[in-house]
Formats: sequence, structure tokens, C-alpha cells
Amino acid sequence: MAKVVSNWTNDLIIFTNGRKVLSPEEKELLKNNGIGINEKKISSLIGKEGLLEKIQLEDGTSVLLEGGFIASEWKQAASFDSLGYTLNEQGGITTDSWQRTNTEGLYACGDTRIAGASQLIIAAAEGSMAAIAVNAALIEERYSQDK
Ligand SMILES: Cc1cc2nc3c(=O)[nH]c(=O)nc-3n(C[C@H](O)[C@H](O)[C@H](O)COP(=O)(O)OP(=O)(O)OC[C@H]3O[C@@H](n4cnc5c(N)ncnc54)[C@H](O)[C@@H]3O)c2cc1C
Repeated sequence: MAKVVSNWTNDLIIFTNGRKVLSPEEKELLKNNGIGINEKKISSLIGKEGLLEKIQLEDGTSVLLEGGFIASEWKQAASFDSLGYTLNEQGGITTDSWQRTNTEGLYACGDTRIAGASQLIIAAAEGSMAAIAVNAALIEERYSQDK
């Protein structure tokens, strides 16, 4: 995420909230690209009307900011585990490029797949692709019954 955000600003600091998650190589890379690192524990995010202004740290110091991004872990809200699909590394439903899961007749699209960027247009396109695939499968089924 730091690499993406550094495209939009030259004033970027990564806060790890007390965790030592960055390797020496990663720290070196960030430093060489002008990205700051703060490994102190955060006590609160301070701002007005939903806009971040300051990060308060547990040691009493604070850092003034104009905004921030939070790296979050993804977890599916809906669970249809009994349908027997497999999950990818991010916890999304695995499909092929026709949105087919490994369970015959079961298709998945959009954020259920967590397979990269979450965007409305991608979810809509995948929904369209799933509809095409379902239609094709139903036509094939009908023709195979006629044999
Ligand atoms: C804060 C935020 C900002 C975003 N900003 C953008 C943006 O600027 N541009 C952009 O392109 N994308 C943006 N996205 C991403 C975009 O919203 C999603 O990628 C998109 O909505 C995914 O569509 P979807 O149909 O897969 O899932 P959703 O839109 O989440 O639809 C899933 C639906 O399924 C329903 N549901 C869940 N469980 C069940 C169940 N058990 N039974 C029946 N129904 C169920 C839910 O209520 C929901 O209505 C943003 C997302 C967030 C969270």
C-alpha cells in the first residue's frame, strides 16, 4: 500500500502501531524512497468531522497529518461454506475466468472473490461474465439431453 500511496504524496509515514513488521530490507527501500517509518504504539486518531488531523502516540508525542489509510484484513461477512467451494489466500472464493467455482453449478463474483482491487465496475463485469457462463451451461445441458 505504501508504494501506491507514495504516488499521491511526498509526505508519507508508515505507522506500524508498535509492531516490528518491517524487515531491514523493507525499511531500507522505504527510506531510500523518502517514506518515513514510525514503530511507536498509537493511542488515538484525532480529527474533526471525519477528517484526520493528528495521530496521538502512547509515549505522549503526536504527529500532525492531513489524512491516512488503514491496511485492513479481509473477512467474508457471508458464509456459504456448506456449498463446498475453495478459498484463495485472501479468504475469497476461488473461481476460474468464467466465475465458476470448483462446485458444479456454483458461481461467484465481485467482492466474494477478494481477488485484487475491489471496484464496482469489476464486480459488475464479473456478474455479467457469471450470467454468460450460467446461460452457456444451461444451453449445453439442454443440448446434451437431446442426444
Ligand atoms: C468504503 C468503501 C469505499 C469504496 N469505494 C469505491 C469506489 O470509490 N469505487 C469503486 O468502484 N468501488 C468502491 N468500493 C468497492 C465496491 O463497493 C465493491 O467492490 C462492490 O460494491 C462489490 O460489489 P458486490 O456486488 O460484489 O458486493 P456488495 O456490493 O457488497 O453486495 C453484496 C450484497 O450481498 C448482500 N448479502 C450479504 N450476505 C448475504 C446473505 N447471506 N444473503 C443475502 N444477501 C447477502 C449484502 O447485503 C449486499 O447487498 C468501495 C468499498 C468500500 C467498502
